Parts: sequence; C-alpha cells; structure tokens
Amino acid sequence: MNNENKSIHEFDFSLICEYYSGIHRQGPGSEHATINALGFIENLDKNSLIADIGCGTGGQTMVLAQNTEGFITAVDLFPDFIEIFNQNASKLRLNDRVKGLVGSMDNLAFEIGTLDLIWSEGAIYNIGFEKGLNEWRKFLKTNGYIAVTEVSWLTENRPKEIEDFWIEAYPEIDLVSKKISQMEKAGYSPTASFVLPEQCWTKNFYEPQVELQKEFLNKHSGNKTAEELVANQQHEAIMYRKYKEFYGYVFYIGKKVY
Ligand code: SAH
Repeated sequence: MNNENKSIHEFDFSLICEYYSGIHRQGPGSEHATINALGFIENLDKNSLIADIGCGTGGQTMVLAQNTEGFITAVDLFPDFIEIFNQNASKLRLNDRVKGLVGSMDNLAFEIGTLDLIWSEGAIYNIGFEKGLNEWRKFLKTNGYIAVTEVSWLTENRPKEIEDFWIEAYPEIDLVSKKISQMEKAGYSPTASFVLPEQCWTKNFYEPQVELQKEFLNKHSGNKTAEELVANQQHEAIMYRKYKEFYGYVFYIGKKVY
C-alpha cells in the first residue's frame, strides 16, 4: 500500500469512527437484551474472566460490568473507539475491572482455557459466525459460555429485495435453526437463543442516527465518504422498516461442556 492510499483509508476509518462514536451503541441492542442474555449464564463470580469482542465504545460492556463482578477485557480494532471506551469505564468508576484494548478478533491474545465468558454483540460477522465460534472456543474454560448476537433470517422464505440486500451485505446470514446447528458443530451446547426486540433497531439504533446524520453532513458537506456512509445507513433503516418480519438480530448463548 502506498502512502497516498494509506492516508485515504485512515481518513475513511476516522470518519466512520467519528460517525459511530456519536451513538451509544454501534449496532442494534439494548440494556434489557444484554441483561436478559446474561440471565442464562451461570457460575460467574468476582474472579471470573470475561472478554467482550468487537466492543465498540462499550454500550453493552458497561451493562455487563454493572451486572457481573468479574474482570472484563474488551477488544476492538479501532483505537478511537477504545479511547472512548476507557473514558466511559472511568466515568462509571469501572476502570479497575474493565479494560479496553486495541486488537483484532482474528488474532486475540487471551490465554488458552482461561475465559469464563466470551461476549460479542453485533460484531462476530466481521470474522464470520462459524469461524468466530470455532476460533474463540479454545480461550474458554470447560463450562465457559459464549454469548453473541448475529443477524439471522426469521422466516424460511423472503421477498427477493431483502434476500438480495443481505446476501450482498453478509452472505453468511442464515436461519436461526442453522445458526444453532453451527453452534453445536463448533462444540457448544445451545443454552438459549432469542430474537432482539424491534426497539433494539429502531429506538436504540436508527432513531438516534437521524439527528446525528444532519450534523455529520453539515460538518462534512461535500465529502463523498460521509455522504455514502449516511446514504447506506438510511437505506439500511428503510430496509429494516419494510422487512423487519423477515430478519433480525438474534442472541445465541452456548456452553462449552467438553
Ligand atoms: N459491540 C458494540 C459494537 C458493534 S459494531 C455494540 O454492540 O455497540 C462492530 C464492532 O466491531 C465495531 O466497533 C468495529 O470496530 C469492530 N470490529 C470490526 N472488525 C473487527 C476486528 N477484526 N477485530 C475487532 N473488532 C472489530
């Protein structure tokens, strides 16, 4: 990569980070859904080691921290997110047991067999659901848990427009039954799964972006990357409103029993 390309990419990343830093969560989710999922995890105590992969600015991590006693190591690829993450942890006085680190989910630095819980909301798609479940398993202790959210089809048949949209965006999208089967094949016993309520997308994700988009476009007026980013998000929100019966984010919780 020459320097010119590098600087363009870095500029893109910083724009993307700036945009997503303006919202509390960088993907669909809610405090309620995080706590709900946590309710299925047993045997956590003050010595538990928890990882949150693709943590973003830490919306869900802080909820996890406030509802568990153990140590949380959170990892994200983007340094800008991790900086905000660690400021958020300090503000909430959680920084003695919640740490954000820059790193990639395909090259995690945890010790083998040490984690009690791996958490990942709205992020495992970056490595792929199956690959993530398979590769991360080694970091868990026996009887450790994994809890991830993943976009999934909610019906066997779908209108072509939404089928095409998701196959282009994330070809690994599949039925809940298929995802659970992949979890079993990766060596987990399926503990629970549930579809995230609609407000995780609308009230918590798309609606806060409306005001943000106006400010962002004003600030970066004439910038093609900024315009495309906003246009993509708006299109995704329209797709969701139109086809929300056919797909959703699903929490998948599994246990490594052997
Ligand atoms: N869990 C957060 C963020 C979800 S958005 C939430 O629910 O709000 C997906 C996150 O994955 C982003 O923060 C992005 O920076 C991060 N990400 C993308 N590729 C990654 C990788 N290879 N390794 C670690 N994090 C990655």
